[in-house]
Amino acid sequence: MTPRLRLSPEAVGSGMTSQRVRDRLVDRLREVGIGDERVLNAVRVVPRHLFIDEALASRAYEDTALPIGHGQTISQPWVVARMTEAVLQVAPRTVLEVGTGSGYQAAILAAVGLEVFTVERIGDLLRQARKRLRQLGMNVRSKHDDGRIGWPEHGPYDAIVVTAAAPALVDALIEQLAVGGRLVAPVGGPGGQMLLQLTRQADGIVQEELAPVSFVPLLSGMLD
Ligand code: SAH
Repeated sequence: MTPRLRLSPEAVGSGMTSQRVRDRLVDRLREVGIGDERVLNAVRVVPRHLFIDEALASRAYEDTALPIGHGQTISQPWVVARMTEAVLQVAPRTVLEVGTGSGYQAAILAAVGLEVFTVERIGDLLRQARKRLRQLGMNVRSKHDDGRIGWPEHGPYDAIVVTAAAPALVDALIEQLAVGGRLVAPVGGPGGQMLLQLTRQADGIVQEELAPVSFVPLLSGMLD
């Protein structure tokens, strides 16, 4: 079930952030292959324009990544939808996100009804994301840390979504995936990344390639 969002007039939007413009993004996602109605509905209701700087709000419902400061980006809506759709296929209850950034992906995961845990290494981005999620009344648990170590205290997770690219899959994260669970992560360097899907089965791990993608790098350590 989709949790109810608390929508201020600002969140409802107008002009280039109105529901009509947002519905066009949903149509576009459908055209490029997103078929899960739970995901499409989450994109319809979560106000993406509140997760970026006001100066960029008119571009919030384009299917592109946009800058959020500190050299980071809010992911492209198609990528957010594709990753969410991939993890929903294993009927998860909990999800760990690595790389909170703007908080948009976390909001989409919460809007499809998951219990969300998210980790971000840049304190300033995390503070802003927390504020937005709180204003929308979304229940997301977050931590300021290097997400390459995951968040073992709450694991294992039914789903893990990594939103920054590493040269290889991170073992500590795979270890925090429950049996029957699924991890999606971009892997590769700036020259070319592939979105990978890992499913943990009782007798081993199945790995599949979903699509070529372009993410900011997964970095080590923390910043204020
Ligand atoms: N999911 C975000 C995407 C943000 S871009 C959104 O919807 O807006 C990726 C984010 O990953 C950046 O904010 C970056 O600071 C963060 N990141 C990179 N390396 C990280 C690490 N080791 N641990 C936690 N976060 C990391």
